[in-house]
Amino acid sequence: MSLKKLKPKKNINLRQLTTLEIGGRAEYFFVVRDNFELSKLLKEIGSQFYILGNGSNLLIKDGLIKKPVVKLIDKFELIKPKGNLLEVGSSTLLSFLVKYCINNCLGGIENLAGIPATVGGMLSSAASSFGVSIFNYLEMVEVMDKFGNINMIKKDKINYSYRRSGLEDKIIIKGFFKFSKNNKEIKKKIQNIIKKRITLQDFSFPSCGSVFKNPVSAVAGALIEQAGLKGKRKGDIKISDKHANFILNVGKGSYCQADYLIKQIKDLIYQREGIVLEEEVKRWN
Ligand SMILES: Cc1cc2nc3c(=O)[nH]c(=O)nc-3n(C[C@H](O)[C@H](O)[C@H](O)COP(=O)(O)OP(=O)(O)OC[C@H]3O[C@@H](n4cnc5c(N)ncnc54)[C@H](O)[C@@H]3O)c2cc1C
Repeated sequence: MSLKKLKPKKNINLRQLTTLEIGGRAEYFFVVRDNFELSKLLKEIGSQFYILGNGSNLLIKDGLIKKPVVKLIDKFELIKPKGNLLEVGSSTLLSFLVKYCINNCLGGIENLAGIPATVGGMLSSAASSFGVSIFNYLEMVEVMDKFGNINMIKKDKINYSYRRSGLEDKIIIKGFFKFSKNNKEIKKKIQNIIKKRITLQDFSFPSCGSVFKNPVSAVAGALIEQAGLKGKRKGDIKISDKHANFILNVGKGSYCQADYLIKQIKDLIYQREGIVLEEEVKRWN
């Protein structure tokens, strides 16, 4: 079946759906409400597509994105107790989960508070901060493979590591988490983490968080800072003066400008340190 017959939204502006505010238009943009619709869609579009979470770890090229983009809504946004676990839909924003944890005195999520992401995006990117990973409190995930089949996978069967989920070929549908109960201090702890995040990270302009992964036994931001790159600009893309692993879109920055600056950082760090910086941000071309 042709993609047009599946009634996608057409020419959706992806720039406004990413926190870096860069990106062209999606030729085919599918909004999917439940597992049935998703599995039906996958059978038609095949295995080449992009899944969009909250767009906070993406660098999307300008111009037309030809691969279909899929956005999960509705039934994918849920938070529900299930036995001693918490069932969380992949499109649930972390901020909603954090609020739920505060209201129910559930502890564990504190150090992740303030990451502008969906739970599915966080699982897919193995997000972590201040020493805590989204996987720490995960018990199992519900995923769909690219043929539309659903599976439950227990955490001990997931091969995750730093910024790798081991689920790259799957669509994450839900996570089942076990948080600790009766945490009365949770709100205070979260407020402190948010303050810490605001002090350390740069929220002054649109960004995609850290651009590079930390290499083994080094901190990418420190290497970039030591190389004197803080504040360096290409057009409207600038390396943050505050957190050298953040690039900021200070105006109408483009993919090419971001790409240029990222290449310059990589080249200089390689010349100085012999280290090949690996990108944490996901590129859509
Ligand atoms: C200001 C700021 C601060 C940040 N701080 C941190 C931090 O402290 N720690 C950290 O780890 N990250 C941080 N990030 C980066 C980012 O928030 C994380 O990588 C986050 O996990 C991305 O989630 P998302 O929902 O925005 O996913 P997106 O950016 O939309 O997508 C990221 C990847 O996940 C895939 N994906 C999304 N949903 C699904 C799904 N349901 N199934 C399968 N794949 C899916 C996408 O296809 C893509 O490959 C920060 C970003 C910003 C802008």
